[in-house]
Amino acid sequence: MPRKLAAGNWKMNGLRANLAEIETLAARHADAQIDILICPPATLIAACQDSLLDIGGQDCHAATSGAHTGDISAQMLADVGATYVIIGHSERRADHGESNDVVAAKSQAAYAAGITAIICLGETLAERENGTTLAVIDAQLAGSVPATATAQNTVIAYEPVWAIGTGKVPTRDQIAQVHAHIRARLNARFDDGAEMRILYGGSVKGSNAAEIFGVPHVDGALVGGASLKADDFSAIIAAL
Ligand code: 13P
Repeated sequence: MPRKLAAGNWKMNGLRANLAEIETLAARHADAQIDILICPPATLIAACQDSLLDIGGQDCHAATSGAHTGDISAQMLADVGATYVIIGHSERRADHGESNDVVAAKSQAAYAAGITAIICLGETLAERENGTTLAVIDAQLAGSVPATATAQNTVIAYEPVWAIGTGKVPTRDQIAQVHAHIRARLNARFDDGAEMRILYGGSVKGSNAAEIFGVPHVDGALVGGASLKADDFSAIIAAL
């Protein structure tokens, strides 16, 4: 069984005053038997360098350096202590037009920098309703996850777009179906596919975490809103 991972994605939220939430979490979960990761905005990563929790970025450029105004490379994230980076979040796929090819290239940049890529996948509501969820997942897995992925350098996050920030959560059976499908595809493609962590993301909170974590092949969560406050995230960590 892969080691569980509770990952918080702060998105474009968080000022220096909010670093206290990370300190509280670190103090409270010093003996945790799972991995706990916070991905704050890039402006706060360096300030978390000495944190006992794992710290990650929310995006990186595919190149190591160069004329890319406003972008940050995986090497830069690693340089300030990040050990993970979220890649291909649906908000980046939608807001910044990131294709599977771009996501794969960014994931390779993370590998080259020695940090773990959390590669995000998930169907839209229209895709769910027209019955193409598994086909969409297949295309995203095939196109976004590099051939050099391993259980060490890659985490998969299944985030149905319609469940993000909406309070809508798929049924247990819907999560089970997609996670089992992803596991089968990873097993078919990678020697250590059984060890690759598959996170669920989308409206996870303390009150639904235990049920979601009880689903086979759910190895943790990628949490947005409920990761911003230490108390809310702690309730999710406790359920793992
Ligand atoms: P919420 O937990 O706010 O629904 O966000 C999920 C998400 O997008 C995490 O990456």
